[in-house]
Amino acid sequence: MSFKHLFRLPSHDMAIDLGTVNTVVYVRGRGIVLNEPSVVAIETNNGVRKVRAVGSDAKLMMGKTPANIRAIRPLRDGVIADLEVAEQMIKHFIEKAHGGRSRLPRRPEMAICVPSGSTTVERRAIRDAASNAGASRVWLIEEPMSAAIGADLPVTEPIGAMVVDIGGGTTEVAVLSLRGLAYSNSVRVGGDKMDEAISASIRRRHNLMVGEATSERIKHQIGTALRPDGDGIIMQVKGRDLVAGVPTEISIAQSEIADAIVEPLGHIIGAVRMALEHTPPELAADIVDRGIVVTGGGALLHGIDEALSRATGLQVTIAEDALICVAKGAGRALEDENYRGVLLAA
Ligand code: ADP
Ligand code: MG
Repeated sequence: MSFKHLFRLPSHDMAIDLGTVNTVVYVRGRGIVLNEPSVVAIETNNGVRKVRAVGSDAKLMMGKTPANIRAIRPLRDGVIADLEVAEQMIKHFIEKAHGGRSRLPRRPEMAICVPSGSTTVERRAIRDAASNAGASRVWLIEEPMSAAIGADLPVTEPIGAMVVDIGGGTTEVAVLSLRGLAYSNSVRVGGDKMDEAISASIRRRHNLMVGEATSERIKHQIGTALRPDGDGIIMQVKGRDLVAGVPTEISIAQSEIADAIVEPLGHIIGAVRMALEHTPPELAADIVDRGIVVTGGGALLHGIDEALSRATGLQVTIAEDALICVAKGAGRALEDENYRGVLLAA
């Protein structure tokens, strides 16, 4: 170890995956230190807005708040819908990741993941939010690039690699080679659309209203990209009966849920097929050899690998630690000189 390293102040540089559903923070030398829902509960009293809770605490309140409190997901569709709230959320997570602002030895550098489809205006908003939250320098990194690095794909080599990141609000499909994106496509379909499709189907078929958190739970427990023979697993679901107007419980079959999410899944599969059609031939040849890697929470949907494999004829692998892959990759880009070129000056 050199003197320079010995005497350097402890670094608190961090990489942040600001997802539509989850925010994951990586601190240099420490790894992942925070993984919480991207939710803020805002209380309004006499026209004055105040943050009541952020992250896990705020998510617990979703769908259960009194009239003067709203639980907001400021990044819902992959862009910052509510800048002020997003900024407060980022600030809160950064402070929490540091275990309290007072212990900050110096202002940290931050690498923030941005969706490849985001506009200049959206990127500027993210940069400003990070600066206001205390960053000395802000780097941006394309989300599919971080995902690929986190999944150990050979992004620095002249080898084509395809990554599909299925998040809550968006799905990003990209082909990478030589530290750059040879192709990228972002569609506003992900886990949220599946949840919505599940609640719409239950309402239509059973006259039962279920909340957002319940439909997500159904997806986690019995959701599948592969329709079972017969009913499959049966799950008890509680909600409000639309006809009688009272709380009630019914049984839902896995086959129903599989049918309900066919449409959003079809969009995701369509985006992957489109990427394959637009991939330059030499890189396509590499993808035939190496297959496709899936990251993001949507990668955990039962049978998604098999469904994508059937639709493309290619080998499909679910990345290890799919939910934190993007933050891990961005953190590695911050730590490892070899990846420096992928960090974009904001
Ligand atoms: P984002 O990057 O947009 O914040 P994430 O990559 O964190 O999104 O993924 C969140 C999405 O993944 C949510 O829609 C969540 O319901 C979904 N998800 C998480 N686990 C599972 C699972 N086991 N099965 C299906 N979907 C899942
Ligand atoms: Mg994500």
